[in-house]
Amino acid sequence: MPVAGNWYLSVPSFPGFPGGRRTRASAAVQGDRPTFVCDMIAIMSDSTFDGVIVGAGFAGLYMLHRLRGLGFSARVYEAGSGVGGTWFWNRYPGARCDVESLEYSYSFSEELEREWQWTERYATQPEILRYLNHVADRFDLKRDIQFDTRVTSAIFDESSNRWNIVTDSGGRASAKFCVMATGCLSTSKVPEYPGIDSFQGKTYHTGHWPHEGVDFTGQRVGVIGTGSSAIQTIPNVANQAAHLFVFQRTPNFSVPAHNAPLASDVDKNWKAHRAEYRQRARTAPFGLLFEQNDKSALEVSREERQRQYEERWGYGGLGMMGAFGDLLFNKEANDTAAEFVRSKIRGIVRDPAVAETLVPRDYPLATKRLCVDTGYYATFNRDNVTLVDTRSTPIEEVTAKGLRTSDAEYELDSIVFATGFDAMTGTLCNMDIRGRAGVTLKQKWSEGPRSYLGVMVAGFPNLFIITGPGSPSVMSNMIVSIEQHVDWIAGCLEYLREHGLATIEATVDAEDAWVAHVNEVANATLFPMANSWYMGANVPGKPRVFLPYIGGVGVYRQKCEEVAAKGYEGFALSACGS
Ligand code: NAP
Repeated sequence: MPVAGNWYLSVPSFPGFPGGRRTRASAAVQGDRPTFVCDMIAIMSDSTFDGVIVGAGFAGLYMLHRLRGLGFSARVYEAGSGVGGTWFWNRYPGARCDVESLEYSYSFSEELEREWQWTERYATQPEILRYLNHVADRFDLKRDIQFDTRVTSAIFDESSNRWNIVTDSGGRASAKFCVMATGCLSTSKVPEYPGIDSFQGKTYHTGHWPHEGVDFTGQRVGVIGTGSSAIQTIPNVANQAAHLFVFQRTPNFSVPAHNAPLASDVDKNWKAHRAEYRQRARTAPFGLLFEQNDKSALEVSREERQRQYEERWGYGGLGMMGAFGDLLFNKEANDTAAEFVRSKIRGIVRDPAVAETLVPRDYPLATKRLCVDTGYYATFNRDNVTLVDTRSTPIEEVTAKGLRTSDAEYELDSIVFATGFDAMTGTLCNMDIRGRAGVTLKQKWSEGPRSYLGVMVAGFPNLFIITGPGSPSVMSNMIVSIEQHVDWIAGCLEYLREHGLATIEATVDAEDAWVAHVNEVANATLFPMANSWYMGANVPGKPRVFLPYIGGVGVYRQKCEEVAAKGYEGFALSACGS
C-alpha cells in the first residue's frame, strides 16, 4: 500500500547514465494508486530529472553546481566530447580571451579562485580549457554530464508540466525545468559561396578548429573575415604560411592587448582584494573593471582627449570604450576616438593604400565588437601577407584551386572561414523547442527574439535561457553575466519549491514591456548604426533587432533582483496540481 509523502527510490544505471540515483517524489494516495502531485516524476527512470541543462561551458557547469547544491537532480547534455563550450570548439591559432584572465573567471568559490593561478594577463584557449576541466573535476561535475550528445528537441508537455528532451543519439529525458546554457556564439556560419564543394584544398572554420591543430607551413592560405577571431588568427597564420591572403569585407577597429605574463604582484593584489573587485564588476556597466570616465569627450580639450586615448591605447584592451562617457551615445564624441584609432592604424601600416583599406569608416567605434589584438595591423607590413578588399571586389565563387573575386583568382591550399556565428538565437532556433500549444521558439522569434529579462520567454514555462537575447550577455564580461543568471535561476527554483509551485512563465505584458525597453535603450545608443552581429546583420534574412541589453550589467542585476523580491513580478506562477 503506497504511503503519502516523500518517496525515495533507487534506480539502476544503464549505458550513458552513470550511477544509480536516489530520487524523491511527492505522492498522494488516491485509492491504492499514487497520484503524483507535482514536483517530481511520472515514470521513475534514470532519464527523469528535476532539471536538464543543455551545454557544459561556463554557464552549464556553474548551473549544474548550483542545482546540485540545492538538492535538485540534473543532467547536462553536451555536444562536445569535453567541457568548455566556446573554449572547447574555438581552437584556432592565437585563440585567447580578450577580457583579462583574473576577471574572466568564476567568482562563486573563493577557494577555487585562490588555488588557481593564471599565467598571462589574457588567457589562451588551452589555459581556459584547463581551468574549466579543473573546475569540473574539483566540483565533481562530469558524472552528471553526458558528452557527445546534442539535444535535438525540447518539448513542453502541458498535461504534466514537464519538458521532454530528445537527443541525437535517440536518448530521451524528462525534466521539470530546462536550462539552455548553449552559449551566445555557438552556431558557426559559413558563407554560401557557389562552388564551395569544388575546392580541392582544406577548409576550416575558426569556431570548429581541429583538435590536433593545423600546420600551415609552406601553404598559400586565405582567411575570410576580419572580426575578433580573424584578428587573433591572422598574425599567427602569417608566421607559418608561405603566403596569406586576407579577404576583408568590413575593416574593424582593434586596440592592442599588450599581453604579458601575469605579474605576481598583480595576482597577489587581486587575491587580497578579490571580493571588492568582484563586487565592482557586478555593478560596472560592462561587468569589466576598466576605469569608466564619465566626462564627455566633447567637454575636454583636444590635448586631454588625446591623453586619455593614448593612455588607454598604451594600457591595452577594451578600456578604450570607457575613455569618455558619451562614446557610445554621441556620434561626434565617438568620432574623436574613432579618428584616434584610425591615426594609429595609419602609423603602424607602412603602405598607405593598405592602411586606408584597413581603416574603418562607415560605423562608429565599438558599435561592432571592438577587437583586441597582438600585432594585427603590423602583420600587413609583411611581404607574405596580402589584403584583399572584398567590398570593392567581392568574392564571387570558390573554385577547385581557390577563391575568385570580381577581378582575380587566388590560388590557395587552405581556406579559413573566420566568418562568425548566427549569434544568440541561431542555436536555440535550430533546436526544436516547443512551448505551449506546440508553438516553436523559432516561430515565436520569427520577427526577432522576444523575452522577459532575456532569461524566460512567454509561452515556454520553466524554460530558462542563460544570457539569452534581451540580457547584457555579449555586451558584458560573459562570466559576470553567466553567474548572475545562474544565481537568479537557482533562486527562482528554490522559490518555486518552497512555495509548492509547479511552473513559472513570463507574461506577455511583461515580455512586451521588456522588449520595448531593450529597443528603447539600444536606440538611444550608436549601436544600430553598424551592420553588426549584435543587430543580426551578419546572417542573411535574420531580423534586424539589437540582440543584447545595453542598459548596463549593474542596472540589469538590480532589475532582476527587484523582480524576484516582488514575488517574480511579471511572471505567472502556477501551483502544483492547478
Ligand atoms: P564576426 O565578428 O562576426 O566576424 C566575421 C567576419 O567575417 C567579419 O569580418 C565579416 O565581415 C566576415 N564575413 C562574414 N560573412 C562574410 C561573407 N559572406 N563574405 C565576406 N566576409 C564575411 O565573427 P568572429 O570574429 O568569430 O567573432 C564573433 C564574436 O566572438 C566576437 O565579436 C566576440 O564577441 C567573440 N570573440 C571573442 C574573442 C575573445 O577574445 N574574447 C575572440 C574571438 C571571438 P562583415 O563585418 O562585413 O560582416
